[in-house]
Amino acid sequence: MTPRGWALLALAGLTVALVVLAALLIPWHRPPAPRADQLAALGDLPAEQVARGREFRAALRPGGYTALAVGLLVALALGLTPLGSRLVELVGRPFGGHWAAQAVLGGLAVVLVADLVTLPFAAWRQSVLTRYGLSTNGWNGWAVDLLKSYAVSAVIGAVALFGFYAVIRLAPRWWWAFGAAGAALLVVLLSFVLPVLVEPVFNRFTPMERGPLRTELMSMAARDGVPVRDVLVADASRRTRAVNAYVSGLGPTRRVVVYDTLLTEATPAEVTAVVAHELGHAKDSDVAVGTLTGALGAAAAVVALYLLGSWGPLLRLAGVDSVAQPRAFPLLLALVTVAGLVAAPVQALMSRRVEARADAHALALTGDPVAFESMQRRLGSVNLGDPDPPRWEYLYSASHPSTVERMAAARAYAREAGR
Ligand SMILES: [Zn+2]
Repeated sequence: MTPRGWALLALAGLTVALVVLAALLIPWHRPPAPRADQLAALGDLPAEQVARGREFRAALRPGGYTALAVGLLVALALGLTPLGSRLVELVGRPFGGHWAAQAVLGGLAVVLVADLVTLPFAAWRQSVLTRYGLSTNGWNGWAVDLLKSYAVSAVIGAVALFGFYAVIRLAPRWWWAFGAAGAALLVVLLSFVLPVLVEPVFNRFTPMERGPLRTELMSMAARDGVPVRDVLVADASRRTRAVNAYVSGLGPTRRVVVYDTLLTEATPAEVTAVVAHELGHAKDSDVAVGTLTGALGAAAAVVALYLLGSWGPLLRLAGVDSVAQPRAFPLLLALVTVAGLVAAPVQALMSRRVEARADAHALALTGDPVAFESMQRRLGSVNLGDPDPPRWEYLYSASHPSTVERMAAARAYAREAGR
């Protein structure tokens, strides 16, 4: 069999593995709470809060979607015309057109162009956040964050680009197989190291102060059978008024993080409800499952790019002879951008199901639907959320169930538990 035949087989295998994994590990059987309960919950929220949340979300929308469209157009313009390959060539020229310079500097230049084109929209978003009082970092803090994230992406991008094109040179016929394995490994590695190497670039993390709340959280974790060394507090208030919490990392780097804003804005019972939700993620290994699906997805993407890249018309559009040249990187980026936009609603759906399971875990663990519901109201009011967002937007991009869904879930739990 030819390398192309093996690649087709590998892609089929990876696709089946992804579908089986998603079918087995995503809690599909968890339908949202009845719409009538959701509407009742919506009716119980202060009208003023609902209006302000909707106004804020509506203010973000034009810039957000224009940025998405412009980002797509630029990626297509660079990848499906010779513009991008010329840019890579130009950047590599001072280095005699050396492949490594084209691969790393050319690749980063293409990404930078795409970033710079959407920069005005990012600034516009920051101005909306400031106007609504959510942002606390000012323009200097915003610019510093932006430069830091460019620097982090440049380091990770340089390693990935160099590795990818080095593999192509070392194994001209089988690069897609090594590239797929490398991409999967990179996803796993990033999951391990992001919490300890990258998150500290943006925030300071300190162990939660000893006291009744910490004692309660640690004993809840022990009761839940989830080993937690510590609950970390992030200094999110340097940037935002919004409240949040999350789990990240794998094995030795796993951590539960709460924003310092959550500790000042929410009651101890509400913080407990939030942490119980995060323990649900830890208990169900949601980070590990996400990493595994991400790794398989990345491997499948490399194989798919190899297969698509042998399609003549596409190469002619991009003005390249082979997808294996660094000059074809803009074409790969364009295909990945389109794939990302198409995959977004599927990813959002899977995320919402996983989040709903963590909510159910929090309700069962705390047995306190009242605190859970007040925590949802708090999240919505402080973060200026739309408690019941437009259906199309929800389906396309919502990573979490809506506030009214989560409130209704708490009420359904209370009914069943007879509280
Ligand atoms: Zn969650």
